[in-house]
Amino acid sequence: MSSTNPPLASKLSGLQSSAIRDLLKLTTRAEIISLAGGLPDAELMPRERIAKAAEGALSGTGALQYTESPGWAPLRAVLAERESARLGRVVPVDEVFVTHGSQQALSLLSEVLLDPGALVVVEDPAYVGALQVFRAAGARIVAVPLDAEGMRIDALRELLARGERPAVVHTVSNFHNPGGVTMSPRRRGELAELAEAHGFWVIEDDPYGELWFDSPAPAPVATYSRNVIRLSSASKIIAPTLRVGWMVAPDRVCRAVELLKQGADLCGSALTQQIAADLLADETWLTAHVDTVRTTYSTRAKALVHAVRTAFGDRITCTDATGGMFVWADFADGTDTGALLPHALNEGVAYVPGSAFAVDGAYRESMRMCFTTSDASTLEQAIDRLARAHARAAG
Ligand code: PMP
Repeated sequence: MSSTNPPLASKLSGLQSSAIRDLLKLTTRAEIISLAGGLPDAELMPRERIAKAAEGALSGTGALQYTESPGWAPLRAVLAERESARLGRVVPVDEVFVTHGSQQALSLLSEVLLDPGALVVVEDPAYVGALQVFRAAGARIVAVPLDAEGMRIDALRELLARGERPAVVHTVSNFHNPGGVTMSPRRRGELAELAEAHGFWVIEDDPYGELWFDSPAPAPVATYSRNVIRLSSASKIIAPTLRVGWMVAPDRVCRAVELLKQGADLCGSALTQQIAADLLADETWLTAHVDTVRTTYSTRAKALVHAVRTAFGDRITCTDATGGMFVWADFADGTDTGALLPHALNEGVAYVPGSAFAVDGAYRESMRMCFTTSDASTLEQAIDRLARAHARAAG
């Protein structure tokens, strides 16, 4: 009997697996120093403190039970307090919603805010996890380039002047993934003004804001307007395994997200939410812990940037790495980073070519390097290898 394959939904036809995830499969050989991943350093994750919190949570039965869809109430209370301090206003608990990592907030928000064909403005180069979500929602995606001050608001203004009406503008305001830059305070104010004048939502996707190196990140875009939905996460400051992210949004958005979360997974994990609440409420411990992560990453970032500038001089420009996990570099000598990659892998170093993050720009001469998981001398060795690969590719 002949069989006919049942189809998948047509919206899947335009979706691809993340190029980065596919590439990562090739870069796990032990001899390769990988600057390609985007992972926080597991050695810095507070295993013992998490174990203690888990033990405390498991002394009762609540941690084993379903919890409320918007999150375990004491965790929401701790988050409301932290976000109130960050935003300089009282954030009511009803405006805080806990998600399965901030990635789930992006996914649920795309269902709540976007009709098929709605326009979403993203930054170019873009956070690929956001692109995947917006593409899956059937959105029309238009990109606005980044420069050293973050999203080019002049380009957004031009787009609006052409009559484009975005439903959502997505920004990674602090220590951009992959672009490495931070939006200036002036542009934050301008973006918020445009959001109010044109009636669009801004999703301020901020998992890296607390990982600043020399000076704290500027006040969030969300301090300028209630049209801004702010996302953050415990992944980079504590551990991704908790899958605790959160959103600060107007009550009506939180209620709509709640309806969809019920359909998606009923609720998050009461166990990891209790652990997260314990750690986030322990301010003295948390401050010391985040300081350690920050200073460790800062030393690594500076070593990487110094090594890149020493090895390549004016053949490359790279971001200063003022926080977060990534350095973005542009070759000025015409090097194609996609063509360079096999040579780099031969020499034992991996990075992600810029094209993996491209929306409109090609970024063929760019690359993203992650500095979190190797110490300074290993990063220097990685750049030596990259320089050898570059010489070999040129020769
Ligand atoms: N937003 C950005 C910009 C990210 O880089 C990431 C993680 N790579 C996320 C959101 C999702 O993080 P999580 O779901 O672990 O909170």
